Amino acid sequence: MKIAILKERRAQETRVAASPESVKKLVGLGIEVAVEKGAGTGAAFTDSAFKEAGAEIAGNAAAALKDAALVLKVRGPEAKEIGDLPKGCLLAAILDPYRSLEEMKALAEAGVTAFAMDFMPRITRAQSMDVLSSQANLAGYKAVVDAAAEFGRAFPLMMTAAGKVAPAQVLVMGAGVAGLQAIATAKRLGALVSATDVRPAAKEQVESLGGKFVAVEDEEFKQAESAGGYAKEMSDAYKQKQAQLIAETIKKMDVVITTALIPGRPAPCLVTTEMVKSMKPGSVVVDLAIDNGGNVEASEAGKVAVKHGVKIVAYNNLPGRLASDTSMLYANNLFNFVALLYDKETKDLAVDWNDEIVKGTLIAKDGKIVHPALEKLEP
Ligand code: NAD
Repeated sequence: MKIAILKERRAQETRVAASPESVKKLVGLGIEVAVEKGAGTGAAFTDSAFKEAGAEIAGNAAAALKDAALVLKVRGPEAKEIGDLPKGCLLAAILDPYRSLEEMKALAEAGVTAFAMDFMPRITRAQSMDVLSSQANLAGYKAVVDAAAEFGRAFPLMMTAAGKVAPAQVLVMGAGVAGLQAIATAKRLGALVSATDVRPAAKEQVESLGGKFVAVEDEEFKQAESAGGYAKEMSDAYKQKQAQLIAETIKKMDVVITTALIPGRPAPCLVTTEMVKSMKPGSVVVDLAIDNGGNVEASEAGKVAVKHGVKIVAYNNLPGRLASDTSMLYANNLFNFVALLYDKETKDLAVDWNDEIVKGTLIAKDGKIVHPALEKLEP
């Protein structure tokens, strides 16, 4: 059985869907792996490292794809790449299905069996395949490092002979995987950290990392977590009360890091321009949710914009700014997923279509979109 690893073609995508280590493990299972020439460049994985790990280096995408049963990518293929995929192949990638319905339909029509790694169920057995967590973790870290780089002051309290440097006050908005890592990283740098979330379970997690939890803890808040552990869209009345509390808190902050997402919906706007105006000059806001529309009204995607004396950092694809580490973790997630679809004895694919992980991630099969969350949204 052959697996193809393609070079990513979307703008600013530096990651790759394999590492030399994951290739070695795939080859160890008796799988033939073809890596498109230069696929690992953005992640500092060389063709020779892939070759040494046992991969064949294919001169172009067509050569990599020839006879491939399974194609591994970071991002979903663009419309023009879909026709090049071998009919009947399996594809695993971060497909972003809610916002790419046309592409999902095109994949189905091209006879591709498509799995969205970003739909991985949040169950214990799937933790080692959870790409949202592996990527968000490093994005949370990088957001704090980016904030520290833009901030014209230090994070820790410093007592020097020339005087005292006050610690930075950091607010993290959204305490999921990225937010918790941002809290931990800001604490390690010596900042005073507060955090907010709409899920009640987040309070304990924030406090266990040494952060102060800030939220309107009313009845709605106590009921706010969905079955999958994700945030629910809150009522307008709650949003207003929460916004007032945040407005008061933000005034005192030096650094604000926003990470709030709601699956299948645009990111909620949490930091208004009025709030930015209330911040001290030289403060920094990092909008980690920018790829999903952003949490900060004044964000400009892909830029560091200075508005009312505040730097608003909104880099796209934060995981791609740490491509070696994020690719390595993503490749491990994919290896674990491939191992689930593969039979070591027959050395071929053996997919259990009733497996919860398979059903949770399967988007297109037999020419149709099959995921229940998408069937009702089909264009
Ligand atoms: P996410 O990326 O979907 O969202 C980031 C955070 O933003 C979430 O904590 C969410 O509650 C918060 N948020 C949404 N709207 C908000 C608002 N208006 N104001 C403030 N915060 C807001 O979340 P995630 O990182 O994927 O984590 C979601 C949940 O899944 C968490 O409970 C996490 O612990 C859990 N999780 C479970 C597993 C597992 O069991 N295998 C793996 C990873 C994450």
